[in-house]
Amino acid sequence: MTFHPSLLTGTYIHYYATCPREAWLYSRKILPDQEDSNIAMGKALADIKEEQLDNFPFSHLKFDKIGKERGHYLVTEYKKSMRNPQGAKMQLLFYIYQLKTSLKLKEINGKVISGKKVVFVEGNEANMAMMEALIEEISQFLSSPRPPPFEHNNFCDTCGYRDYCY
Ligand code: SF4
Repeated sequence: MTFHPSLLTGTYIHYYATCPREAWLYSRKILPDQEDSNIAMGKALADIKEEQLDNFPFSHLKFDKIGKERGHYLVTEYKKSMRNPQGAKMQLLFYIYQLKTSLKLKEINGKVISGKKVVFVEGNEANMAMMEALIEEISQFLSSPRPPPFEHNNFCDTCGYRDYCY
C-alpha cells in the first residue's frame, strides 16, 4: 500500500511523534480502545471543537482557534493533558504548515495550551522545511506492509493500544 501524504492528519503526526507503531496501527483502521479514559476525554473535546469549526474551510485540520495577533496569524490548540509536548508541538506545526502552504500566509505561529503549560511553535522556514521532510518520512513509513515490532516505551502505560500490544 502507498500512503499518500494528502491523507495525513494532525492525529497521525501526533501519534508518529509519540510512537510510530501507534501511527501505523491507526493507519490500518485498528482503533485504540474507545473505553480508555484518555480516548473518551479526547473524543469529548473533539466533538466540542467540531461544532465550533462547522463553517471553517479547513475544519478537517481540527485545531481550536485561529486569529491575528500583532500582525501575524496565531493558531491555538487546547489539550486535555500534555502527555507528549513534542507530539503536541509537531501536530500544531503540521497545521501551521498546511495553512501556510495552502493560504500562502507569510507569518503564522502557534501555541498549545494545557492547563498552565503553554508551548509556543514558530512557523519559520526551518520548521516548515522540517515539517515537509517529516510528512515525507511518515508517508513512507505508513506505506510499509508491517508495523515495527512492539517495544515498550514511556507512553505505553497510558496508550489506548496497550491491550493490543501487550
Ligand atoms: S502500547 Fe506502546 S508500543 Fe503499542 S502503540 Fe501504544 S505506545 Fe506504541
